[in-house]
Amino acid sequence: MVTVVSGVVKDYGWGIVDGLATWCGGSTARPQAELWFGAHPSAPSPVVFPAGLTAGTTLADLFNDQGIPLLVKLLAAAQPLSVQVHPGADLARRRWSDQQANGGPQILADGNEKTELIVALEAFEAFIGWRPNVEAVALLSRIPSAAEGAELLATGDRIAAIRALLAAEGLQEAVALLPGASREAGLPAIECAAYETVASTYPGDKGALLTALLAHVRLEVGSAAYVPAGVPHSYIRGLGLEVMTTSDNVLRLGLTPKPIFIEEAIEALDLGASPQVLRRRVGEVIAPTGAPFEALLARGLTGMQEQTALSILRQGRFRLCLAIEGAATITTDTGSVVLNPGTAAILPHDDSAARVAAPGLVALVAGG
Ligand SMILES: [Zn+2]
Repeated sequence: MVTVVSGVVKDYGWGIVDGLATWCGGSTARPQAELWFGAHPSAPSPVVFPAGLTAGTTLADLFNDQGIPLLVKLLAAAQPLSVQVHPGADLARRRWSDQQANGGPQILADGNEKTELIVALEAFEAFIGWRPNVEAVALLSRIPSAAEGAELLATGDRIAAIRALLAAEGLQEAVALLPGASREAGLPAIECAAYETVASTYPGDKGALLTALLAHVRLEVGSAAYVPAGVPHSYIRGLGLEVMTTSDNVLRLGLTPKPIFIEEAIEALDLGASPQVLRRRVGEVIAPTGAPFEALLARGLTGMQEQTALSILRQGRFRLCLAIEGAATITTDTGSVVLNPGTAAILPHDDSAARVAAPGLVALVAGG
């Protein structure tokens, strides 16, 4: 039987004030950064259907997080998120069991790999993956205290360059030079503007210089970027749908008031991993190569879109349908359920195939 859940809002400081009000029940007059749909222990989603359950029942009470292999979020960023990297499966398992056995700093939130997909719901900007070395060297060599980092990068030693940039002298001054250096290096105006944002939002942050190492990506509505474990990134601004494995393992290198764990983040970097930018329109399936999930943002669901939706919602894997604009109706062997905006239908592996009807925008996700 279909289970319907609402989301749990996270009020991280980088969020947009009331940015998720349409989906989280209204104004809180605070940053609304993320709205979580899933069974992760940090924020399991409240169950709103079937009715008659004990008050406060969550998705984690009905299924353990192994039964709910994916976590889906709406994300509203007013300012850049941390420069971060997520651990792969082996590292997450090893570090989590060490942490459980030995106590010490709470670095990981769980023992799972985290790979993620960000789908733009409005124009979305991010730094994802590595900027070509020649560009990063051109940018950093124009900042005197980053010159050592630039030289190390020119030799191809990215990790040494990261350490040198994190140890740069005169940090405030160096960060203030970043936007001008980006213009002198001939980067596009949108990228120079992103460096203005970084420098004005985080003037004294060690991680600000690291953004010079990262490639700038702008996603139009319906387009997406897949970020495998080990790929560094920092989302800059915009409204998006995030799909990920059930994990909250974030290792931060900077650009944040939260704790940073430089050695652990460097250990999690996978220099061989690459992000994928998937240029799509609403109605086109988003299936990154090697990802444990796929997604579809759809409106109207007629013709080809209806066929695509049916294939996403086929039986045999975990599925989630989130109403974004207007109501959606989801129908399975056991009947129909109406989803209001900001609620999601959950279909575990053994639930029947499903159909969805929606005049407005819906997100369909499947995998696990
Ligand atoms: Zn991330």
